Amino acid sequence: MKERSENQEVVNRYRQLLRVSKWSRKKGDGAQIRKAFELALSAHEGMRRKSGEPYIFHPLAVARIAAEEIGLGTTSIICALLHDVVEDTDTTLDEISEMFGQKVADIIDGLTKIAGVFETNSPQAENYRKMLLTLANDVRVILIKLCDRLHNMRTLEHMSDKGQLKIASETSFLYAPLAHRLGLYAIKTELEDLSLKFVEPVIYQEIKQKLNATKEQRNRYIRSFIKPIKIELDNLGVPFEIKGRSKSIYSILSKMRKKNLPFEDVYDLFAIRITLDSKPDEEKMDCWNVYSIVTSIFKPNPDRMRDWISIPKSNGYESLHATVMGPKGQWVEVQIRTRRMDEVAEKGYAAHWKYKESSEGNSNLDEWVSRIREVLDNQDTNAVDFIDEFKMNLFAEEVFVFTPNGDLRKLPKGATALDFAFEIHTEIGAKCLGAKINGKLVPLSYELRNGDQVEILISGKQKPSKDWLDFVVTSKAKTKIKQSLKDEKRAVASLGKEALERKFRNASLDYNQENINKLVAHFKVPDELELTYLIGKDKIDREKLKLKVILKDDSISGRSGTRSSSGTGFDPNRKKSADEIILGDDTVELEYSFAPCCNPIPGDKVVGFITVGGEIKVHRTNCKNAVNLMSKYGYRIIKAQWSNEVPVLEQFEAAVSITGVDSLGLVGKVTDIVSKELKVNMKSISFESLDGTFVGRLILEVSDTDHLDQLMKELKSIDQHIDVTRVPLKEPEKL
Ligand code: MN
Repeated sequence: MKERSENQEVVNRYRQLLRVSKWSRKKGDGAQIRKAFELALSAHEGMRRKSGEPYIFHPLAVARIAAEEIGLGTTSIICALLHDVVEDTDTTLDEISEMFGQKVADIIDGLTKIAGVFETNSPQAENYRKMLLTLANDVRVILIKLCDRLHNMRTLEHMSDKGQLKIASETSFLYAPLAHRLGLYAIKTELEDLSLKFVEPVIYQEIKQKLNATKEQRNRYIRSFIKPIKIELDNLGVPFEIKGRSKSIYSILSKMRKKNLPFEDVYDLFAIRITLDSKPDEEKMDCWNVYSIVTSIFKPNPDRMRDWISIPKSNGYESLHATVMGPKGQWVEVQIRTRRMDEVAEKGYAAHWKYKESSEGNSNLDEWVSRIREVLDNQDTNAVDFIDEFKMNLFAEEVFVFTPNGDLRKLPKGATALDFAFEIHTEIGAKCLGAKINGKLVPLSYELRNGDQVEILISGKQKPSKDWLDFVVTSKAKTKIKQSLKDEKRAVASLGKEALERKFRNASLDYNQENINKLVAHFKVPDELELTYLIGKDKIDREKLKLKVILKDDSISGRSGTRSSSGTGFDPNRKKSADEIILGDDTVELEYSFAPCCNPIPGDKVVGFITVGGEIKVHRTNCKNAVNLMSKYGYRIIKAQWSNEVPVLEQFEAAVSITGVDSLGLVGKVTDIVSKELKVNMKSISFESLDGTFVGRLILEVSDTDHLDQLMKELKSIDQHIDVTRVPLKEPEKL
């Protein structure tokens, strides 16, 4: 029974595919598509997706997206139907080439290679590079890959958590910008929203619900805005459609973050779009007529008018945008375009060719393909822009240099001669005195350039120093320098400790923890190591070290007292107790630390990430760095979750920013609430005020997200004009 209805559904979906691809099919195309469908059907027979559906639903859906949402033709539909066949089944490329020709086989080959590339453990940047090279062969590979990714994102809830995060991160990092670059706005927007849904589920749902809750009110406003325009447009005599369109959740959130606004203050949650059915040679005139109608009813903001009709964007986008003052003093964006421009805007260039009557099917697409390839091949700014949009400089990310023997070494861009020395050997790095580049002497901080031949000069007397950390970029060099500095510090500290122990003996006092704690508090240093190091370095005058006097002073007690009197600027390093976070499948106990960029606290969704040095850093899943890392190095993700056994008394630091309208005594109120009413330890507070507004930053000790949320709620309640948001403890480091 079930099988029969499934088979019926397969047939239904195949028919839908034929329906949406009708416009592009030439004679004989139908038979080819059928042949591809039948091959895919038999090759994937018995296979199922993670959702339990028959596997063939997937290639059918991908082919439909290609035809319907991008407007691709028969060759692409065939390739979409067969895109997983070579990778996942016994069918070979030769068979495909024999049945469908070399072009189809080449595209499938490209698709199979991309799939393979992403499975391997090589650095993701390398994968992207390969992917771009494939793109240069035939852009349809990338287009079909985008359709594939879109369908996978639409059905992502059937994946494991870890898989979801990896795919969603990769999508926002690579595929959405790619879709944007190719002018596929509808797909780009959907990919961004879907990615957000999995990377930041809470905020996504929150905005979604708020959008729903305010829908009726928004629609009422849109109706009142449209009404007078409609009357005038009717008189113009060009068929038109006018409607309000909600902006995407992703773009609303971006705006909230960029301008630091709550949802309620984002006014442009929608745009008005007027689409005209113009005659081909009257397009421009019609658009400008409509522009003048709209701006005579509502006053335009002259700074925010965009004319992409006279000069279309490089990805083919054409439209006229105006922002006008609507009823109730609200700015409203109005987009004016023709049906053809609208299709191009939504589906990219492929749609454009539908409107050229003279030429047919694939030859047009080839023309388009070669145009995109031209942009990519071009060595001028366009090509740079393109790569920039991936947020990484694939080809400028590394420098290639040579050893004196002519061996090639790859280092990250920005690496210095000192990085090179550590790259060759730790000892050579530690004893590095200087370097010769192409025979000329340069300082250690010299930034390497492509093709440099580097010779390192060493000295037995040289030792790593702290300022070296200012100009190395590789993690290898950084770790080794820090290690060496720490070793040196310990050596000095042990000399200091010997001296201190002597002092204790001479004064007939016990060298015990209690007394040491008192000294630590007295000198306002973080711990015994620092204390003995300073003594060893003679930074604390041994003659003035009057132990009896200091230890008798009752006003100083142990560490706990120094915490709230934060005047020393001392900040004990956040400990990692191995039982706060459970990593992986919890079969082995792994060491980890919390990433300083996002500083997770219990209650945050977290993910572990294995660094180059083999350490595990725990990030919040919505941390910008983590998203970036996950998309680049997906294979280094390790599952992480909070243990239920986080000790109740354990406190975590979290930073919040408070912004609002300045009012008298506000700082006092904030500190009162925090310390008196809520009895929370405040580690630091800073306020700045500017032109009647203020920006404040608090670092608080909390036990988990519930605790923090509660606090933020209390702070918000001080004044209705106050906005309180959680911010990273530190500014995220550049990667
Ligand atoms: Mn697929």
